[in-house]
Amino acid sequence: MTEERRTAIVTGGARGIGAAVAKKLASDGYAVAVIDLDESACGGTVDAIEAAGGSALAVGANVADEASVAAAVERVATELGEPTVLINNAGITRDNLLFKMTVEDWDSVMNVHLRGSFLMTRAVQKYMVDAKFGRIVNMSSTSALGNRGQVNYAAAKAGVQGFTKTLSIELGRYGVTANAIAPGFIETEMTAATAERVGIGFEEFKAAAAAQIPVNRVGQPEDIANTAAFLTSEGAGFVSGQVIYVAGGPRD
Ligand code: NAP
Repeated sequence: MTEERRTAIVTGGARGIGAAVAKKLASDGYAVAVIDLDESACGGTVDAIEAAGGSALAVGANVADEASVAAAVERVATELGEPTVLINNAGITRDNLLFKMTVEDWDSVMNVHLRGSFLMTRAVQKYMVDAKFGRIVNMSSTSALGNRGQVNYAAAKAGVQGFTKTLSIELGRYGVTANAIAPGFIETEMTAATAERVGIGFEEFKAAAAAQIPVNRVGQPEDIANTAAFLTSEGAGFVSGQVIYVAGGPRD
């Protein structure tokens, strides 16, 4: 793969699941653009990739902003290579029970997950169509099935699944696949923040979650990175429009 090294974009790649996916794709030979709100926050991921002999670029962008996305994707194409792999991973939570949820909580979650995935995918698809090859992986969640306190996030993550299936139908003829990963409980700053919000220590919170998970542990960002590596691989070209629950047990 060294001669025609493919370029991948990972949004929300500064930390957590996105950082693990970026490192895994780099170790598999992709040049990786690490996009996050704050360009300097991407430094840790980029440094780790370069220290391991890989190629990476830090790009600051807000995935929910059309102009920011256009500039970021153009910069990736010019400075790193035309992107044909896209991981829509950037995400936020603004949890609250419905009766306390503000319009801002609703809009900001919709904007990052849905508008962000739409804008990024629309900007990147032309490179995929030109190359007659593309791999899109969108981050959904087990919360798409419903989760107390997350009416905004659950709706967005269920929306990501319909978005993904439709991409697979529209873009399949160009050699582009689109799949969603729906993680269960993954140990990151996002779940640490949830523990803090509900007033439980993170260790206790993780232990309680693990007790409900058939494989008897919480997930790690690498669990998601390994799944993303499969879905973006050459050999996964006949897997498209799927939602893969990576949750240590079955989900509907
Ligand atoms: P995380 O640790 O909070 O990381 C998310 C990253 O996305 C942060 O670096 C954040 O930047 C960035 N981001 C937020 N808004 C952005 C925007 N508008 N533009 C660009 N970047 C933005 O979260 P995570 O746990 O790794 O989650 C990654 C993805 O997996 C999310 O889509 C999440 O919903 C999903 N997921 C996570 C879990 C879990 O258990 N952790 C489970 C299911 C699904 P800032 O730091 O600047 O905000």
